[in-house]
Amino acid sequence: MVQLVSTIAQPEDKATVWHSLEVEEVIALVQTESEQGLSSAVVKQRLASFGRNEFTVKGGKPWWLKFLLQFNQPLLIILLCAGLVKALSGSLVNAGVIWGVTTTNAIIGFVQESKAEGAIAALAKAITTETTVIRDGQKLRIPSSELVPGDIVLLTSGDKVPADLRLLQARNLQVDESALTGESVAVEKNTKPLGEQTPLAERKNMAYAGGFVTFGQGIGIVVETGNNTETGRISQLMEQHTDLSTPLTRKFNKFSQNWLYMVLGLATLTFAVGLSYRDWQEAIEAAVTLTVSAIPEGLPAVVTVTLAIGVSRMARRNAIVRKMPAVETLGSATVICSDKTGTLTENQMTVQAIYASGHQYRVSGVGYAPTGEILEDDKPVNLNGAKGLQECLIAGLLCNDSQIENKNGLWVVIGDPTEGALIASAQKAGFSQASLQQQMRRLDAIPFESDYQYMATLHATPRGNTIYIKGSVEAILKRCKLVLNTNGQTHPLDCVDTLSRASIEREVNIMARQGLRVLALAKKPVSECAERTLRERLSTVDHPDIDDGLIFLGLQGMIDPPRESAIKAVQACQGAGIEVKMITGDHAVTAQAIARRMGIHKNGSILAFTGAELAQMDKAELAQVAQEGVVFARVAPEQKLRLVEALQSKGEIVAMTGDGVNDAPALKQADIGIAMGGAGTEVAKEAADMLLTDDNFASIEAAVEEGRAVYKNLLKAICFILPVNGGESMTILLSTLLARDLPILSLQVLWLNMLNSITMTVPLAFEPKAQTVMQQPPRNPNEPLLSRSRLGRILAISVFNWIVIFGVFEYIKATTGDIALARTMSINALIAGRIFYLLSISQLVPNLIAKMDGTIKENVDIPAIGFGIVGAIILQVIFAHVPLINDVFSTAPLSFKQWLFCLAVGSPMILWAALVNRFDPPN
Ligand code: ADP
Ligand code: MG
Repeated sequence: MVQLVSTIAQPEDKATVWHSLEVEEVIALVQTESEQGLSSAVVKQRLASFGRNEFTVKGGKPWWLKFLLQFNQPLLIILLCAGLVKALSGSLVNAGVIWGVTTTNAIIGFVQESKAEGAIAALAKAITTETTVIRDGQKLRIPSSELVPGDIVLLTSGDKVPADLRLLQARNLQVDESALTGESVAVEKNTKPLGEQTPLAERKNMAYAGGFVTFGQGIGIVVETGNNTETGRISQLMEQHTDLSTPLTRKFNKFSQNWLYMVLGLATLTFAVGLSYRDWQEAIEAAVTLTVSAIPEGLPAVVTVTLAIGVSRMARRNAIVRKMPAVETLGSATVICSDKTGTLTENQMTVQAIYASGHQYRVSGVGYAPTGEILEDDKPVNLNGAKGLQECLIAGLLCNDSQIENKNGLWVVIGDPTEGALIASAQKAGFSQASLQQQMRRLDAIPFESDYQYMATLHATPRGNTIYIKGSVEAILKRCKLVLNTNGQTHPLDCVDTLSRASIEREVNIMARQGLRVLALAKKPVSECAERTLRERLSTVDHPDIDDGLIFLGLQGMIDPPRESAIKAVQACQGAGIEVKMITGDHAVTAQAIARRMGIHKNGSILAFTGAELAQMDKAELAQVAQEGVVFARVAPEQKLRLVEALQSKGEIVAMTGDGVNDAPALKQADIGIAMGGAGTEVAKEAADMLLTDDNFASIEAAVEEGRAVYKNLLKAICFILPVNGGESMTILLSTLLARDLPILSLQVLWLNMLNSITMTVPLAFEPKAQTVMQQPPRNPNEPLLSRSRLGRILAISVFNWIVIFGVFEYIKATTGDIALARTMSINALIAGRIFYLLSISQLVPNLIAKMDGTIKENVDIPAIGFGIVGAIILQVIFAHVPLINDVFSTAPLSFKQWLFCLAVGSPMILWAALVNRFDPPN
């Protein structure tokens, strides 16, 4: 151990050493056992001395800089300048209040943003990468952060390389190291030692942390972890960065910039007009008030909070947003292309039908429990008389990387459910996986890959080495030449009897139409491998070995029931104008049967296309078919990319799921790439905008729903804040033009725009979604932020506000002569109206009504809006009745009657808002 630490602790030779050493030397240096791996005791020691396998990244910008950057918004800069103008003109208190409120706003923005960033960073952290190691002679899945030097790591395609590895074995291993070397083509790896001076990009016997295995398998030994890895040394220079911006926030920033120019223009006009009949101090007050009133100071904070709340709501419903813009894009998705197995279906496979040597068998029993029987014509089958059936079951058991286990009385599969089903069916016939594996030791294997659709294993049998193969019917049957009969003798496939190719194909169709997933099984004695007959000793198997001459053993058909929750979610999506398309590697007929069972359709029909058909099409045809088709079967991962592009060319907003290595390009291209958190490979997760922690289609639907709700809430907040600015600006502008006293002063405007707006608007971010969100068509992503009807709404409410402010002020001033009281009352009346307006757009009232009707069961969440309203009222009481505030904000206390008067003046808003809602429904 001491020696190990000293070898690794010297950076000078470290950089050159590992790739130049022989495998044995590396193993000796890091003191491990290539077969057994490290022992848990040693792992513990090493974790203590080397630390966890994580990068320490710089914590980003310091907090004070982040805080200062809050002021770097044009709107706030204007306010600071307005304060300065006030200060120079001698009103220091005014200036102080403007600055104070601006700072308060920055603090609120800062706190909210940090919270949002923190929440998103925490979500990102919750996504751990896992890796497969050998420790204590056992294969284990562990979080990559727990790796230590000396660990033996198994790599397969789709994995992220978890640490710097010296490769001990490489089998067609290709690693994409573009993140480290900039080389975009994956590098083919081997294990030969290299010269010391070999540059990083050419060290073919190493796999560096952060790389992705794009093909093949390999075994490597961990030589560096955490910050000592090549990537770690680079990323120490990088900053951790959480980007909260989305297309909407960018649109928003642009909007506020243009807004600014207009406000500055109007302020200049006000100043000029003011100067013509007042002294310059009053003219400045008018100009500053106009500036302050026209700027929606509270809005940026509200936008950030709303988005962040959306993200955490989605996380609660098993959809983790990795890239912020997805929150919005989700709401406008028009098509969801989903995986079948595991996402739409349970991925709980049970073999129900077997076809071998011309006989049809049924299999009883449910799940992975080995209880059940194999029946022929409803009678238990006599296995001794059915050699073909036996071989078919044995093939399923041997060509298998999974296990089934009884966990607390529940039978579960460790590995691939498809394989678990094959084990269960063989066990029902009395075969034992363990003893069979002992009798026929596995020598080598080609693991399953979606691209090939088969898997093969090589076994030592008493009659010589034999390859067992299982896979899709399309992949297997064309490679078969012979078939086993009931007595276990071979028989040519291309003949006309019950054992013919045609009868097998007929059987496949029968099974597929019942929605069964069909696997074909075959074998091949190694002595038949043409180019290898001379090398009878051979102990490896490769793709060319099984290109032809296979002996067909049979079919096993398994059910994979649709998920109940997914069926509901599909209905919800289709009701919401979102098309659902199924993309699968499975058979077209099986996929169609499942689609039918789940109610997935387009205009009542379920058109299915296969990958082979898609491959023949040109771009235009593909675009047509992509829109019309519902099921895309036997699709190669690369074709997913073409499908996404085709749909996008038709103007669709596409959400696409994926889990494999080859899905990454499609996930990146899709408007919303969705990776499976459970079954997905690291490559897919990295490429995706969103992860599903439960791999369930229902979570996609949930995310869409939340995405729509977020957008609605944002619009509500905007439509809530802007009319107050509108009403205020109209008031200042008109009163100035009419040469009347200003009904509100700049500080009062700030009070309204910041304190009042924030207390009443932030609750809108917490609004529950409307019952109707999933009954509307998707939002057009090109729709402007402020559509015509929304602008109309803002204008209409602004006019109401102007009437209230101007009317109350003029009336009270005329009747009492008390200008401070007139101003206080006009503001209170405005807020009374505002409360009614809030209620009119909030989801609270419709939800309460629905609750009373019994249409919704959940408890209606009153607090957020309730607190907001109560908070706003308390603030107004302080505004009018606290002497200090009276002095600073030039306000005056009201009598009880005068309060009632304000309430009465604000109340017509109920009718006015109801009218506006008819033209521009808020939900
Ligand atoms: P999907 O997940 O969309 O159903 P896959 O790409 O996983 O499709 O599988 C495609 C086909 O490959 C399946 O229909 C089946 O015939 C075959 N297959 C699936 N899993 C295995 C496996 N573990 N071994 C051999 N063949 C398999
Ligand atoms: Mg699959």
